[in-house]
Amino acid sequence: MTREFAYQALPVRVAFGPGRSREVAAELDALGLRRVLVLSTPGHKDVAGEVSRALGGRSAGLHAEAAQHVPVDLARAAVAVARERGADGCVAVGGGSTIGLAKAIALETGLPIVAVPTTYAGSEMTPVWGLTEDGRKRTGRDPRVLPRAVVYDPDLTSGLPVPLSVTSGMNAMAHAVEALYAPDTSPIVELMATECVRAMAGALPRVAARPSDPEARSDALYAAWLGGSCLGATTMGLHHRLCHALGGTFGLPHADTHSIMLPYVLAFNAAAAPEAVRSLGAALGTAGPAGALREIGLLAGGPRSLGDLGLVPDDLDAVAAQVAETPYANLRPAGRAEIRALLDDAWSGAPL
Ligand code: NAD
Repeated sequence: MTREFAYQALPVRVAFGPGRSREVAAELDALGLRRVLVLSTPGHKDVAGEVSRALGGRSAGLHAEAAQHVPVDLARAAVAVARERGADGCVAVGGGSTIGLAKAIALETGLPIVAVPTTYAGSEMTPVWGLTEDGRKRTGRDPRVLPRAVVYDPDLTSGLPVPLSVTSGMNAMAHAVEALYAPDTSPIVELMATECVRAMAGALPRVAARPSDPEARSDALYAAWLGGSCLGATTMGLHHRLCHALGGTFGLPHADTHSIMLPYVLAFNAAAAPEAVRSLGAALGTAGPAGALREIGLLAGGPRSLGDLGLVPDDLDAVAAQVAETPYANLRPAGRAEIRALLDDAWSGAPL
């Protein structure tokens, strides 16, 4: 087989291991940062506060105001706080929402980011930013928002509730699944994607059974790193477009939406992506990867369908129209009627 591909490695330093979040200061020193603003969500400020305290005089304080999908008002307020406190960088301690707020600050000011991820969403490995204004989420790519260093500490994830652990892990696997059939996939991405799915699918049942299991947590966070790396390296397809439209229009919880949609989109794309299906089957140890992913998603014990998330069938028309009008690259062409049929299945939680 002759190969043809392009791959752009991203300049992120990654430090991984239990207790590593106590070494954030060393990462700041390596980057020449002397006074960083520490960010978190309000609900996670205790953990971020500990990181901030451990930084001593290097911390310009904690700003615990991050929220899902980065509302522009919160982004503007955070930029003002960073300027007032004379910050020369940001440390984001949290999931995609907190890292998203750091990215919004970086987009405006160029301040470098050190990310300490505590979910499996993967934003820390990407130059993708998002901002929400008047109910619409804009996203873009900018090298300035790519964190300079990422500190993965599985100890910080031991308290991540099982439902969010599972749905967030599905979010990481969604990046890997779509990377496998992305127009700009490459051999290294395929390796990362299949390893992400293998490790995450192996870890989540163990996390669900014993949430404080350090090895399971380590495996899940390792898989999250790989999933985020896939997201940073490739162009996402129909699944991410649908989740973006569903989340942006109806404010649905990000990780739940990914978790519910992924098996249905994979089933939809399967015939057009036989190699991806084979690779995923090998990683999951099954000939039916869509069904296997659905089973893993159900470990969350939460919403099983778009209907459970509170959508009514009429809502699906608006999403189908939005996605058909501004599609992402996808192997199987998807018009409004096909998208509506896919959404109907995900709405009712149809068997796969
Ligand atoms: P999140 O950051 O919104 O966190 C969800 C909740 O979990 C919050 O209340 C948070 O305080 C809490 N939490 C986080 N870590 C915890 C822990 N270890 N223990 C206990 N509670 C914890 O959720 P998310 O799914 O990580 O991020 C979703 C957001 O990230 C969305 O806005 C999405 O668009 C964005 N995202 C962006 C990218 C990108 O590349 N730009 C990639 C993935 C996701």
